[in-house]
Amino acid sequence: EKVELGTFMEETIAAFNQSYDREFILKVESEPFIVLTDAVKFKQLLYILLDNARKYSSDRIEIIAKMDETAMVQIRDYGDGIPKESLPYVFDRFYRVDKARARETGGFGLGLSLAAHLAELLKLKLEIESIEQLGTTVSVIFSSDFNVPEIKSKQEGS
Ligand code: ATP
Repeated sequence: EKVELGTFMEETIAAFNQSYDREFILKVESEPFIVLTDAVKFKQLLYILLDNARKYSSDRIEIIAKMDETAMVQIRDYGDGIPKESLPYVFDRFYRVDKARARETGGFGLGLSLAAHLAELLKLKLEIESIEQLGTTVSVIFSSDFNVPEIKSKQEGS
């Protein structure tokens, strides 16, 4: 289905701002644009990533929606970060970075494996960048072939 990404993100982030006493700051860095996706599954995916940003940080959380080469949403926190050696495993089922920290926040280590599964269904690419003690940025990247076909046709025309 067709989703205008900026409006969709505004609604999603408003829900988070109402539910938690935390600052979720959305920046929409493009003119309105349409992506093709399954809105329910896409929202589930965003909820997992936003909830992780909230659980593993105590500062503001920044969300950027933009359209350059393709459409993307980035979720940035300034929290615990993930050690380099753990990064390859965070999408694995039941993986959690460290037991002590994991106990405090609860959870089973399933969120990101579900996120990866949803991303595959939706033909989205997930990229995670993180520096321990500084924070984490997760990028959700739309496929220009599948989710934003007008970009593809523009490129072919030029
Ligand atoms: P669940 O999602 O089952 O409630 P979880 O948050 O532990 O539990 P995942 O979402 O799969 O599970 O995350 C796996 C691990 O990756 C987490 O335990 C945490 O150590 C690390 N992690 C995920 N997102 C972040 C983040 N934004 N900042 C720091 N660490 C993170």
